[in-house]
Amino acid sequence: MAQDVETIFADILERVKVLDPANARKWFDELAVLHLNGGSLGIGCPDEATALFLRDNCKNNFTRAAQQITGHLVTIDFKVDTSDKSIRRSGKQLPELKLHPDYTFDNFVVGPSNRLAHASCVAVSQSPGNTYNPLFLYGSVGLGKTHLLHAVCFETRKRFGSAVIQFLSCEDFVNRFIRAIEEGNLAGFQSQFRTVDALVIDDIQFLREREHSQEEFFHTFNALYNNGKQIILSADSPPGKLPSLEERLISRFNWGLVTRIDPPSYETRVAIVQKKAHLRGLSISDEIAEYIARKVHANIRELEGALTAIYAVATTTGKDITLELAQTALEGQIEASARHISITDIINVVTRHFDVRLADLQSKKRSQSITEPRQICMYLARSLTRHSLEEIGGHLGGRDHTTVMHACSKIDRERCSDPQMNALLEELSKQVTHAPQS
Ligand code: ADP
Ligand code: MG
Repeated sequence: MAQDVETIFADILERVKVLDPANARKWFDELAVLHLNGGSLGIGCPDEATALFLRDNCKNNFTRAAQQITGHLVTIDFKVDTSDKSIRRSGKQLPELKLHPDYTFDNFVVGPSNRLAHASCVAVSQSPGNTYNPLFLYGSVGLGKTHLLHAVCFETRKRFGSAVIQFLSCEDFVNRFIRAIEEGNLAGFQSQFRTVDALVIDDIQFLREREHSQEEFFHTFNALYNNGKQIILSADSPPGKLPSLEERLISRFNWGLVTRIDPPSYETRVAIVQKKAHLRGLSISDEIAEYIARKVHANIRELEGALTAIYAVATTTGKDITLELAQTALEGQIEASARHISITDIINVVTRHFDVRLADLQSKKRSQSITEPRQICMYLARSLTRHSLEEIGGHLGGRDHTTVMHACSKIDRERCSDPQMNALLEELSKQVTHAPQS
């Protein structure tokens, strides 16, 4: 490969880091340039999960960076680099696994709050179907449940290349079930889920009461369990506390191992900040890691947000990360969590931004132009205030807590997969936290 192509690619990667600090990772430096010609840039990825992650989350910013560096419009193509080993050892067509490359066991910091959950996930990935079945992880938001589920899938895939794993959110499971019914293809759906070696479902609290999908899940569960296949589930509460779950499912969930994840201790938070900094190729001093861990304790996602804010200031100003820089970068965020934000503050910002009325948000209207701002209100209220799901639902037209939960998880997923949504939420949060108090 000509030297200048390598250099151009290195410049593009540097630019991506500035354009997209939230997604930039140290391992980007290990991506290979396959070709750069005729307005097309081929980027080689070590595996399918990485390629999928980059396509879903980073394509726009790679395109922008390539255009800024080369001065031309460049189409980006993320491909698995075939010179590397292939995960598909058997001739079987394996279901696509959408995994986040960061969410591995190596990148998971173990502490007293998550030791049991971590150990049981490791055990299951070494011998699926034979140790704890089902394995049920629970804990509140942002404590690492999804991370551990991804790690189990990565590890199982690595050890048993031909294992058929289905990993999906509960909402995807339900949607695919509904689609199968509409298309009259229930048999296809059943063969997809009842023949796997491992079924991993995230956020199972969204299985709704008295709906056919819960019935279908029950039969899927039985078929897999009876064949010694592994089932792994996560939820925000233990099985007995999930409000809309049928008794027969609750009892089955308790057949295996139920483990809880607690909020991390201070020491674990410091170690997580260090680990996340390392993933981004940043070296930060112990003093700064301790500063962040002291300032942010609610959940680990917020710790990451703090690190992203610091990283963004450092890359855009070209300055080294010092304690002063960290303090300046976090000032806004910390002030925000220290001061009292009301749901009204949030509603004011959202209605202004989307040019809708509060009455619309509270109404039964279900058009996209109303539903989206309503769901964003719920999400922001959940992340920026201490109000319960019921209280948030109450402010927005007396909606029940499951509706609010659904909205939060939907927006959260969009935030992860869509950089524009992420930017919008950041902007709205900033407006809320800087608005004069109501
Ligand atoms: P949950 O599914 O419980 O809401 P996630 O798994 O999405 O939480 O975790 C939120 C963020 O925190 C992710 O970026 C994840 O990598 C990170 N995280 C959580 N626990 C740990 C840990 N013990 N070590 C490293 N990162 C963690
Ligand atoms: Mg999760």
